[in-house]
Amino acid sequence: MNCIGVLTSGGDAPGMNAAIRAVTRSAIFEGWKVYGIHRGWAGLISEELEEFTTNSVSNIIQRGGTILKTARCDEFRTEEGRTKAFEVLKKYDVDALVVIGGDGSLSGAYQLATEHDIPVIGIPGTIDNDLYGTDKTIGYDTALNTIVECVDKIRDTATSHDRIFFVEVMGRDAGFLAQNSAIAAGAEAAIIPEENTELDQLADFIGRGIRKSKNSSIVIVSEKDGGAMHYAERVKKEYPQYDVRVSILGHLQRGGKPSAADRILASRMGVAAVRALKEGQRNVMIGSIQDRIINLPICRAIKEDKVMENDVLHCLTILSL
Ligand code: ATP
Repeated sequence: MNCIGVLTSGGDAPGMNAAIRAVTRSAIFEGWKVYGIHRGWAGLISEELEEFTTNSVSNIIQRGGTILKTARCDEFRTEEGRTKAFEVLKKYDVDALVVIGGDGSLSGAYQLATEHDIPVIGIPGTIDNDLYGTDKTIGYDTALNTIVECVDKIRDTATSHDRIFFVEVMGRDAGFLAQNSAIAAGAEAAIIPEENTELDQLADFIGRGIRKSKNSSIVIVSEKDGGAMHYAERVKKEYPQYDVRVSILGHLQRGGKPSAADRILASRMGVAAVRALKEGQRNVMIGSIQDRIINLPICRAIKEDKVMENDVLHCLTILSL
């Protein structure tokens, strides 16, 4: 191993910079050359490679977003696109690639590694926490804290006006952000993709007679299927006696300084990615299970579903009475 590339892809997540820094410095520590690849798969195809020194990653650990920038790239979804990407890696004598991103980015990495002779290591970077094989993904802790801070503020208004607030959070296919922010903010309910049908969840919330025992309520909704607006409209129509409002938190959930937990997770995963390459591993994702850093085949991380613990689901039901 003489030279590696590192890129960030998919949605940005706080802590990605700490991971870039850790990969870069660990590789330099091993005596390897490192290319930072700008704008994810798109930048790889269009040869946006920059040789990194230890200084390239100075003063970034505390910054949100990604200094390498990120992109979504349709061309990389095609075999021709991935062949172009591979040719660029060969042209620059890159021996292995570290990819920091979510489910889609790691699926792309896996495709590339199966079609061409290039080892890839995945680092789970997404606020959604939807990757199997790791308790937490980089960015999740920071996003969760941001949501909780916002919901605390919304609660002041909800209480003052006796309103039901539907607060929409990110997580199209995974309810970790919604469910856990609901627990942490003391919300009355969460509507998440993993649970029941839409009808069940809303009916359950209303059926519990929230408004009989409380003057205001907060329901956290995952962004899927029309999200908070959809549920608010339904409640307005079916229960016109309620004063209903919607708040869509949107992109502010992605930004901001990474939490200490995300910085530490990203740093440990970045170091572990280089260690995995040094040990001759290929096509694995770095995970953290019960605070132990592990490796698992990327194909498992992208194919298997991450299950939400039952107690996390029940906890909210009990505590919101
Ligand atoms: P987030 O969880 O934050 O959305 P992500 O990594 O899942 O991050 P995607 O938009 O799904 O984000 O994927 C990022 C990029 O990875 C895509 O734009 C595409 O270039 C590539 N990609 C995604 N899925 C595949 C796939 N099945 N095969 C090849 N490339 C893919």
